[in-house]
Amino acid sequence: MMNRQQYMDSLRKLSPVIYLKGRLVESVVDDPMTRPHVNSAGMTYELAGDPAHEELMTTVSHLTGKRINRFTSIFQSTDDLIKKVKMLRMIGQKTGTCFQRCVGLDAMNSTYITTFNIDKKCGTNYHERFKKYLEYVQEHDFMVAGSMTDPKGDRSKKPGAQADPDLFVHVVKKTDEGIVIRGAKAHQTGMINSHEMLVLPTTNLGEDDSDYAVACALPVDAPNVVHIFGRQTNDGRRLDGDIDTGNSEYAIVGGETLTIFNDVFVPWERVFMCGEYEFAQDYVSTFAAYHRQNYGGCKVGLADVIIGSAAAMAEYNGVKASHVRDKLTEMINMAETMYNCSLGCSCQGTKTEAGSYYVNTLLANTVKLNCTRYMYEISRLAHDIAGGFIATLPYEDDYRSPETRAYIDKYFAANPAFSTEERIRVGRLLENMTGGTALAESMHGAGSPEAMKIMLYRESNLEHKKNLAKALAKVGEIEKKQPEHA
Ligand code: SF4
Ligand code: FE
Repeated sequence: MMNRQQYMDSLRKLSPVIYLKGRLVESVVDDPMTRPHVNSAGMTYELAGDPAHEELMTTVSHLTGKRINRFTSIFQSTDDLIKKVKMLRMIGQKTGTCFQRCVGLDAMNSTYITTFNIDKKCGTNYHERFKKYLEYVQEHDFMVAGSMTDPKGDRSKKPGAQADPDLFVHVVKKTDEGIVIRGAKAHQTGMINSHEMLVLPTTNLGEDDSDYAVACALPVDAPNVVHIFGRQTNDGRRLDGDIDTGNSEYAIVGGETLTIFNDVFVPWERVFMCGEYEFAQDYVSTFAAYHRQNYGGCKVGLADVIIGSAAAMAEYNGVKASHVRDKLTEMINMAETMYNCSLGCSCQGTKTEAGSYYVNTLLANTVKLNCTRYMYEISRLAHDIAGGFIATLPYEDDYRSPETRAYIDKYFAANPAFSTEERIRVGRLLENMTGGTALAESMHGAGSPEAMKIMLYRESNLEHKKNLAKALAKVGEIEKKQPEHA
């Protein structure tokens, strides 16, 4: 396993093409705009080497019997699913942001199941190929970006019916050596500071779209791959000092890219689906359920920090009113409800034919749908408690300037037990964690709310519920008793 330093050194050996604000990024580790993202993912390496966290952060490979980072593992029990949630909550608490590495973990677990299912029906050998690739990832302790979301173009049209065929990643050429893919993936969490990416389909596909049924792995710096880095709320503050970012060590969200594949060659040993369109839907929903499971872990870790910040702000402000206690309790209830949902879908997980464990899909979708509401509500209550202060604070430069520092210290002072700087720092942290990009990620990460609603409706067996109601209301008996002429 790599430690944090080794992870950073390993990134320095790669040379991905990354555009950011009109320039090329030379080193994701050393560039001040990307360094916080490296630090966030670096926590998954750092904690794995800490004996105090070995139980949550590491496990034994079912392929080699060696100890590996849990982020490269295939879930072997419901206990593994539960430990994943607990691990994510802990890392969320320590970083206050997205640490990115779970997307690849979930992509690998859904590929493990899907390749087994394809082989069983089609007689292919994707599963063995994927196991070899997985061993390679585990051996090197690589970070893998799960690369699923295509740009999608006109949402009313399937991939092949788009005006531009490249709006979904597709195979443009097959040779004896491998395939060539073209297209792009959007919203790619953790891509720039990963070693590898695992490409998988984003939607259900029909026979006409079989060229779009493609799953494969490639290095993030493969030839003809271009990454364009996304902008986050207030990210320019990273260049201004450490107070105004609110969380200077870590990032605001995952650090997403638009990743473009300009006819990229992938050798056959790294291709795990090629044309088997009928498996795309299950592939997508398996990945989605695994990733929705996570949000009652990572986001609850963030909620813990937001709740703590709000409680601290109340103390700094000197507010002792009972409504603060009431609001904090509401926030705690929402956070623990999301955690409950994640633990629930993990406890109710089942063994797949491939031998790995899969979460309960219905319950996994409740996690994420609750998250799209509760993270906003938790943030709203945090703003309520903190006061307008967090929206009107002066620049860090003015706080550091001898001409203005004394004014700010004097007029932003509140409870004398605490310094003004303490109050400003926690206020900025709250601003960072409860605004713009951070909230939008809670809404759309792992799929937008309507995607969860479709799954909840599909999985909940409404007919069974109707029959329960009819049985108690004796509706069937009334129908039977009706006279024939009625
Ligand atoms: Fe992991 Fe959460 Fe970030 Fe998704 S949003 S990659 S689950 S930390
Ligand atoms: Fe996410």
